[in-house]
Amino acid sequence: MSLEEYKGVFIFAQQVDNELSNIALELLGKAKDLAADLDEKKVTAVLLGENVEGLTDKLAEYGADRVIVVDDPALKDYRTEPYTHALASVINEFKPEILLVGATAIGRDLGPRVSSRVHTGLTADCTQLEIGDFPLNPMPGQEQKHQQLLMTRPAFGGNTIATIACPNFRPQMATVRPGVMQKIAPNKGAKAEIVKFNPGFEENNCYTEILKIVKEKANVANIADAKILVSGGRGVGSPENFQILEDLAEALGGTVSCSRAVVDNGWKPKELQVGQTGQTVRPHVYFAIGISGAIQHVAGMEESDIIIAINKDENAPIFDVADYGVVGDLNKIVPELTKQIKDAQA
Ligand code: FAD
Repeated sequence: MSLEEYKGVFIFAQQVDNELSNIALELLGKAKDLAADLDEKKVTAVLLGENVEGLTDKLAEYGADRVIVVDDPALKDYRTEPYTHALASVINEFKPEILLVGATAIGRDLGPRVSSRVHTGLTADCTQLEIGDFPLNPMPGQEQKHQQLLMTRPAFGGNTIATIACPNFRPQMATVRPGVMQKIAPNKGAKAEIVKFNPGFEENNCYTEILKIVKEKANVANIADAKILVSGGRGVGSPENFQILEDLAEALGGTVSCSRAVVDNGWKPKELQVGQTGQTVRPHVYFAIGISGAIQHVAGMEESDIIIAINKDENAPIFDVADYGVVGDLNKIVPELTKQIKDAQA
């Protein structure tokens, strides 16, 4: 493998039912930064599906300079084998230096298969990506490579942060956690260069046959999109007592979320969990109520614009990341806060 042949920053533009997933736009935002650091002019989105060309303008508005479209009935719904064939073929043909994939259910299935098929490495579930030297402090006699993709992710149950590089193979591949990277403000009317590519598909016995798609209707709020989150922890005490958080959320037009302890206790569904093994959120305001501030929780909410912590223990680690802290009993403070907000609105 000649590494020099591999150029450019590519992202996998995930779509489901001909609708782009948010992660595609987030990856474009990050890809633009990486491309600038590499003095690359173009960011390329790889769009796979059937009749998906209508999505290319949106990709352009969010930063794609070029979109490689593989359009085929075999790609109508996500299936591991044809998508792997398509994306691996794009890599072999266009030779990207970097390929980013969302760490969604689809991306977690697709990314490792593709990396193995094109014989390169993949760092899963990254929360930070940058261009830099690797290794940072070379041992005597060890070669230091420049302009490598440094892929950072929590490791060992969130107790340490690992930065991983892939200096000897290309592309450098990462799956990236949804909600962590920032989209750019859309450039309305922007157009991308469209490249149609079709490696050909032959239905074979490796292809899964989809008999029926059953969609589960989400009956809980999507906390990743909320602007105000009122998050409760074990300190709330019981599922019934979450009502005081629901009242505060309602007064503010916010959404209730929670820590893992709450999910483990069966008080709230997993979809509402914030943190390393839950969702990464970035609301304007994040209330942490009766939450101690364990590293695994903080990993999912520390990028919130304003963090307000309410905890009876003045030494709780949540106060280290909070912009505003209230020390006291949440059973007194939260209803009083809700009352004052309602009074101010009246
Ligand atoms: P606690 O740590 O028990 O804190 C309760 C807090 O409530 C305390 O600080 C207490 O002072 C306060 N309190 C009690 N009563 C009151 C009151 N009346 N008024 C005010 N304050 C009060 N955790 C997550 O949240 N998200 C994750 O994604 C996650 N992933 C994990 C992954 C791994 C691999 C591991 C090992 C752990 C993970 N955890 C995660 C668990 C994490 O380590 C903590 O155990 C968890 O976050 C604790 O939840 P908590 O803050 O609600 O509970």
